[in-house]
Amino acid sequence: MAQLDERIGEIYNEVLRRNPGEVEFHQAVREVLECLGPVLAKHPQFAHNKIVQRICEPERQIIFRVPWFDDQGNVQINRGFRVEFNSSLGPYKGGIRFHPSVYLGIIKFLGFEQIFKNSLTGMPIGGGKGGSDFDPKGKSDNEIMRFCQSFMTELYRHLGEYTDVPAGDIGVGGREIGYMFGQYKRITNRYESGVFTGKGLAWGGSLVRTEATGYGCTFFVREMLKSRKQSFEGKRCVVSGSGNVAIYTIEKIQQLGGKVVACSDSNGVIFDDNGLDLELIKRLKEVERRRIAEYASHHKQAKYLESGNIWDIPCDVAMPSATQNELNGKDAATLVKNGCIAVGEGANMPTTPDGIKIFLDAKIAYGPSKAANAGGVATSALEMQQNASRDSWSFEFTEAKLDQIMQGIHQSCYETAEEYGAPGNYVLGANIFGFIKVAHAMVAHGLI
Ligand code: GLU
Repeated sequence: MAQLDERIGEIYNEVLRRNPGEVEFHQAVREVLECLGPVLAKHPQFAHNKIVQRICEPERQIIFRVPWFDDQGNVQINRGFRVEFNSSLGPYKGGIRFHPSVYLGIIKFLGFEQIFKNSLTGMPIGGGKGGSDFDPKGKSDNEIMRFCQSFMTELYRHLGEYTDVPAGDIGVGGREIGYMFGQYKRITNRYESGVFTGKGLAWGGSLVRTEATGYGCTFFVREMLKSRKQSFEGKRCVVSGSGNVAIYTIEKIQQLGGKVVACSDSNGVIFDDNGLDLELIKRLKEVERRRIAEYASHHKQAKYLESGNIWDIPCDVAMPSATQNELNGKDAATLVKNGCIAVGEGANMPTTPDGIKIFLDAKIAYGPSKAANAGGVATSALEMQQNASRDSWSFEFTEAKLDQIMQGIHQSCYETAEEYGAPGNYVLGANIFGFIKVAHAMVAHGLI
C-alpha cells in the first residue's frame, strides 16, 4: 500500500475511527487519499476549507425498514439505504443495489466512488448510492414488485429530479426501476420522468442506457490501447460476470474485432475457445434469468468450470465486470504473467489494492472503475437531459455522445497523470481530476 503523507494520514485515521467496520468504504477512501498529497500542496485553499475531511462525510444517510409479504404470506424484513454523499456538482446521482451483501459500508464505498466518477463524466451530477440487503435470487415477480413498492414507500420522500435521482446497479434492472417508478408516481401524483434513470423506452428511458456501462468501458479500453498504438482487433479477452455490464462489454468487444473466450457468474466460469455465443448468453440471462452453467449444454466445445477462477485463463485484455474485490493480488500476478496488456473495470472497485499495485508496477494499461465504468451514469445524465427537454434521441446519436464522453474521460485522466508526474497512471489521473472539480465547487459554495 502506498504511503499517506502525514496530514492525509491523520484524515484517514479519523475516517477509520468514525466509520468502524466499513472495510470497503475504508478501501475506497484510502485509494483516493493516496493520490491527493500533491493536490493539497498545490491548492492550499482545499486544506484551509477542510475539503478532504468534508468530502469523506456524506451529506445525508438514510437507513430504513422495508417490510413485505412473501408468496407464502410470511412477513419479511429487509434494510434499505440511501447515502446522499455529495451534491456540489448536481443532484445526488447513483444506482440502487439489491444484494444480500449490502450493508452501510458497501453503500458508502459505492457512493464515495460515485462522487468522483460523476465528476469525471463532465455532467452536472452529484454522488449518491442506495440499496438493500434484499436477495432477488429465486424471488417471484410478485415478490420483487411488493419489495420494490415497500422500498419506495419510504424512499420517495427523499427523491426528486433536482434532489436525488436513482438508477440500477447489481440486482436492479429495468423491471425493478419500473416498479419503483410506478410507486413513486402513485404516491406523489407526479409524472416526474427525471427522478429515475434506466427507465423503459416507452416511458421516458433513453436508448443506449442498457448498453452504456459495457460499451463505455470498452470504449475506454480502446482509448488506452490506442495511446499505446494497439487495438482490440484479434485480442483475446476475458470478461467476468454475466449481468448487464458483462453482456454489453462482450457485445462491444466483438464489434471492435476482439474475441471473448470466458465469462462467469457467482457459481462458475464458462470457457469457450471459439468465442462466446452472445445471443445465447442474452437469452439465458436477460430473458430466462438462468445460471451461466447452462451455456455448456448448448455448446459442446465449451467448458463449465464450477467455482473456477476466471483470471487463470490467459488473455490479452481482462474486463472485471462482476463485483467489488473479485480480482486479488494473486490474480493480478497471474494475468500479468500470462501476458495481459490491459484491464478495464466494468464493476465498481473489482481489484483489491494489492492487485492494483501489481498492474501499476507492471505498467500495463489499467483503467480503474471510476473512470472506465462511468459510461453508465454518463448515459443516465443523457437520459435526464432528454427528460428535461421532453425529447428522445436516436441510438446512433446517443452512442456517439457516450463515445465522446469516454474519450474525454480518458484524456482527462491521461493528461492529469502526466501533469502530476505519473504518466500512464489512470488511478492517479482519475482521482485527482475527479476530486479537483468537486473541491472547487465545494469551496465556491461556502461552508455547508
Ligand atoms: N450503478 C451505476 C454505477 O455504478 C449507474 C448509476 C446511474 O446510472 O446513476 O455507476
